[in-house]
Amino acid sequence: MIEIAGLRKGYRRLRGGTHRALDGFDMLVEPGQVHGFLGPNGSGKTTTLRALLGLVRADAGEMRILGHSSPSALPQVIGRVGAIVESPQFFGNFSGRRMLSLLATAGGVPQTRVEEVLAQVGLRERGKDIIKTYSLGMKQRLAVASALLKAPELLILDEPANGLDPAGIREMRELVRALAAQGVTVLISSHILGEIQLICDSVTIISRGRRVLAGPVSGVLDDFDRGDFRIRVS
Ligand code: ATP
Repeated sequence: MIEIAGLRKGYRRLRGGTHRALDGFDMLVEPGQVHGFLGPNGSGKTTTLRALLGLVRADAGEMRILGHSSPSALPQVIGRVGAIVESPQFFGNFSGRRMLSLLATAGGVPQTRVEEVLAQVGLRERGKDIIKTYSLGMKQRLAVASALLKAPELLILDEPANGLDPAGIREMRELVRALAAQGVTVLISSHILGEIQLICDSVTIISRGRRVLAGPVSGVLDDFDRGDFRIRVS
């Protein structure tokens, strides 16, 4: 579903020189998996996802998404990929249902999808309420709903548990597992080891812009727990 090889990205430092955010990073995400992308703050997760989605230009490396080169062939997979890599901008005075309806119209998606995605993310009851009354967890689920409108095969979520309370984290976890059960492949980034352990089938661990471990969650995180690769987790 996703293949990344030798990805490099440097950011210019204000005082001169370049900060290597990605230093030859590799990742493989197989179909049907919930794949965790685990690494401490600043390790390069967001940069990787932004590069993959053509939101930032990589300096070097090969990226494929659903078998197409990224970013050059991204237009060919639009609609098959849902992504939340930055907080979506919603109109706070709109109801969740009206917001999704607007996005459906803009995306050429039938309005019947609105009720389907509201149900998928557990917001059918609250769909009539205005967004500014939603908890952060509900806003996150509304964001996932918006990413699901086109019924994507692949969903990319950058730190979806960030800032959520334990109930919100549990709801997000259940939502991701439910989507996986429906056949959606999910790539989910996090700096929280426990989250990845609970939710994912496989994992790639990034540290300082490089892959340090990858594979099935059980094997990889057992190695990790043995202390070979220390990253900050919370
Ligand atoms: P976080 O969980 O904190 O978002 P991350 O693993 O997603 O961390 P990135 O956001 O990709 O990491 O950042 C990787 C490194 O690149 C960090 O050192 C960060 O400060 C730096 N960086 C990211 N974006 C920029 C930018 N636009 N300009 C300069 N440096 C940047």
